[in-house]
Amino acid sequence: MKTIAERFESVYQAIRAHADQSVIELLAVSKRHPAEAVRQAYALGQRHFGENYAQEGVQKIIDLADLKDTQWHFIGPLQSNKTRQIAEHFDWVQSVDREKIAQRLNQQRPAQLPPLNICLQVNISQEAQKSGADEQQLLALAATVNALPQLTLRGLMCIGSATNDVVVKQQEFTAMQQLLVKLQQRFDTVDTLSMGMSGDWQQAVTAGATMIRLGTALFGNRE
Ligand SMILES: *Cc1c(COP(=O)(O)O)cnc(C)c1O
Repeated sequence: MKTIAERFESVYQAIRAHADQSVIELLAVSKRHPAEAVRQAYALGQRHFGENYAQEGVQKIIDLADLKDTQWHFIGPLQSNKTRQIAEHFDWVQSVDREKIAQRLNQQRPAQLPPLNICLQVNISQEAQKSGADEQQLLALAATVNALPQLTLRGLMCIGSATNDVVVKQQEFTAMQQLLVKLQQRFDTVDTLSMGMSGDWQQAVTAGATMIRLGTALFGNRE
């Protein structure tokens, strides 16, 4: 069994081999790993962490409040009854896919905190079971988020389809990059393209990802 330190070191090396590390933000997805694993990653210099489940994530954020300068990203499906917890504790929400959720996050973000950083989740593979806005809805949703004072529109997020077909993956990631360019032409706060997971991050980086979200590659298999 590799240690967390060994896993981080090999991922850092692989990123260096693949891209200019300074332009790729590594999000360590700590869902279903204990707070202790986050502490180990923090000690290695990791600062951005991702969680999928509101309750688990909030508990970890509270348990780890002594760690300074962390950025917590909510990356899971959003339910209306969970938005308050998320708005009060997280720094980023990457899975916004409808106006109602954006409105709630804006209303529930405490006034003394900086605006929540928002990525819009795109259902790039058009799979019915996956959440995410389609392209037509996207620009309208972006305008809504951009107009809300307690939210800052940062970019786009997608989950590539579960296929080993590299051509399909490349098409999806390239389509995302083109959508990001369209968004950047309209909104000057947009700088983030969050795509690529443990199984496909190299392809995502080649297509223009600025943030990759790795769980298994950094922390090992989830329970
Ligand atoms: C779990 C998860 C990840 C990380 O997945 P790995 O395959 O373990 O790297 C990334 N993004 C989202 C949205 C996830 O739910």
